Amino acid sequence: MLDLDAPLSSLLPRAGDGTGKNADPAKWLSHLGLETGRDLLWHLPRRYLDRGELTAIRELTVGEDVTIVAQVQDVGKPQPLRQRSGWRVVVTLSDGRDRITTTFFMATPHQFGPVLKPFVPGALVMASGRAGQFNGTWQLDKPTVEPVPQGADAGALAEAPLPLYPATRDCPSYVVRASVGTLLDRLAEDGGEQQGFDEPLPADVVAGEGLLPPLAALEAVHRPRDRAQLAAGQDRLRFEEAFVLQTALALRRASTVTQAAAPRTASADGIAAAFDERLPFPLTGAQRRVGEEIAAELARPHPMQRLLQGDVGSGKTLVALRAMLTVVDGGGQAALLAPTEVLAAQHLRSITGALRDLAAGGFLGGDPRGTRVVLLTGSMGAAARRESLLAAASGEAGIVVGTHALLQEGVQFADLGLVVVDEQHRFGVEQRDVLRRKGTETGRGVPHLLAMTATPIPRTVAMTLFGDLETSVLDELPPGRAEVQTVVVPQDKPAWVDRTWQRIAEEAALGRQAYVVCARIEADDDDLADGAEEAPQEEPPPPPARAGKGAGGGRPKPRPPAAVSQVVEVVRTHPATAGLRTEVLHGRLLPAEKEDVMSRFAAGELDVVVATTVVEVGVDVPNASVMVVVDADRFGISQLHQLRGRIGRGGLPGTCLLLSGTSPDSRAGRRLKALARTRDGFELARLDLAERREGDVLGAAQSGERSSLQLLGVLQHADVIERARARARTLVEVDPDLARHPGLAAAVASRVTGDTAAFLGRT
Ligand code: ADP
Ligand code: MG
Repeated sequence: MLDLDAPLSSLLPRAGDGTGKNADPAKWLSHLGLETGRDLLWHLPRRYLDRGELTAIRELTVGEDVTIVAQVQDVGKPQPLRQRSGWRVVVTLSDGRDRITTTFFMATPHQFGPVLKPFVPGALVMASGRAGQFNGTWQLDKPTVEPVPQGADAGALAEAPLPLYPATRDCPSYVVRASVGTLLDRLAEDGGEQQGFDEPLPADVVAGEGLLPPLAALEAVHRPRDRAQLAAGQDRLRFEEAFVLQTALALRRASTVTQAAAPRTASADGIAAAFDERLPFPLTGAQRRVGEEIAAELARPHPMQRLLQGDVGSGKTLVALRAMLTVVDGGGQAALLAPTEVLAAQHLRSITGALRDLAAGGFLGGDPRGTRVVLLTGSMGAAARRESLLAAASGEAGIVVGTHALLQEGVQFADLGLVVVDEQHRFGVEQRDVLRRKGTETGRGVPHLLAMTATPIPRTVAMTLFGDLETSVLDELPPGRAEVQTVVVPQDKPAWVDRTWQRIAEEAALGRQAYVVCARIEADDDDLADGAEEAPQEEPPPPPARAGKGAGGGRPKPRPPAAVSQVVEVVRTHPATAGLRTEVLHGRLLPAEKEDVMSRFAAGELDVVVATTVVEVGVDVPNASVMVVVDADRFGISQLHQLRGRIGRGGLPGTCLLLSGTSPDSRAGRRLKALARTRDGFELARLDLAERREGDVLGAAQSGERSSLQLLGVLQHADVIERARARARTLVEVDPDLARHPGLAAAVASRVTGDTAAFLGRT
């Protein structure tokens, strides 16, 4: 039987390429990163054209590698070159509306025969090359060309969709098509189907879902007879992607749910009860319900694995703190892992603030039921660091808050019972495991895990990214949340911008405060500041060239966004705001300086902070009522939603002004309109994701690695993901090590490996 894991050079014969030259397809295919038969079969067409459908030339993107189908309109006569010796022929193709030309060069006029062979006037050709424009005329640079392939059965041809593969200059798409065809033919000859060709899915799943067998599905997507067959093939492969992934997640989950963990329960006279007694407000219904869920799980002898979701301001921190106190009551320690120093410091402040004398355990005047809360970050001085390490290792600190520094080797706990990961998506699966292992070392089992997301994510995204965790949702905001009015302000209209600064002054006159957020720190910075995420681009960027040759873009470089250093000058000199007490806050200040600005702002000693997105998460100043975001179009939806969550907290109605230089009809403009329309974080998260390409959602785009998800969309195929997850969990329950499903075990091992597993932990 054909070995699909063999190198392509052994599977594909070297063959004539139609121009008389001898070609080695394996070498070409290696430019696409395709090494084995399996790689090639899973290199799926990007899209399909109906026969007779021509590519719309005016919709091409300059600088992009494209494959077009067009009609040959004219083949010129060979003409001598003017500047140097040699000849050229210009061929003109048309889509019926626009024209595109391509030019061939040869040393003598007799040499054009082979390259011009496919260009029969009136015939359709498929041409791959780089699209460009010269003097207003479309051009296709250095194309590879072939006649539009004809099916064997001419009668069926009109029905058959034409597959278009992702093209690059280094591997023409006809090489891909021909090589896939060769391989599929060889598999068919081998009777692959009868031999159960590589069926990774259990028989009952295939039957239950009504799926095509794998070889038939691959045949259907590479050489579809008609749209219906194509759809059936895609359904099968898509389900397979979802199922293999969900099996991997179910295995992960199963491997921990059976492990031992120390049960932790609160006691009637412990710190958890004391804290609840002193809460200045009642818990929301959702906080109470989720709190009970968590308490029940902490009391079990197996580790909790839970993701806590909730909209901005829904009170996740409080839920996490109550879980940590329960563990402290149960004699253990809790670690809170935060992605940035600003956020870690903020957590420390809010936790000690909420605990008051309960956070002074062991100190004179502290409550005897209290504990110690310590901070551990990379920028701490040696002495402070040593003290925190000692408090963690001795068990004196019940709660340790920190950044990545918590993961380092020298960090030890006396009895780590709970790991809380804030903004889980910024950490990998391995990182959260490193921390949990520190608990396991003390012999009291695996610590419980509570992961939190900063912004809500749609259910199926959570299932895909964090499918090994159970999910709790805080679907209720604490009472007293005031209205926040959001307005998009055109940055190029000076009168509107003036009005923005006046709004700040009006609020300041009432004793309120304002944030002004910018995308950069200094005017000459190239990078966006402090983890400002790049908003999705206006147009989807060209596909990452696997061969590593970046496609040249025809897009103009956008104007750099305004910097903190520039905007603070505007605020300090504008007639409306010149008299206000204004300071800057960003990641380049020393920790002590940041701390100073934040605490003065919190104490009402400042009217305005001009900041980067360091204020994005966690920062909690109820008296702040205005948020101005400069160059708002440079930020992503979720980020703006987070920023806006900083105001409207203290029962004061808030105003969020999004300054933008972009047209309201652009993608960025529509994003801002959506923000102005709703404050529902779940709806905004869906919008945000729908805008990003799938690869970005799963974080695979940058790595250049082939995403393991080719057909599955976490938003569009929610139903597929739900079904696959249910079936995968059922299967793993009865066959926890896949002993009875070796084909599936192999698929999980080969597809969900290293990087892929890592990207599951990130977005
Ligand atoms: P999240 O982290 O979910 O965005 P936070 O935990 O920062 O939200 O909570 C936002 C604010 O709401 C904090 O000031 C917190 O003290 C307050 N808060 C939390 N729970 C309640 C509640 N049940 N009632 C009133 N205020 C609450
Ligand atoms: Mg929070």
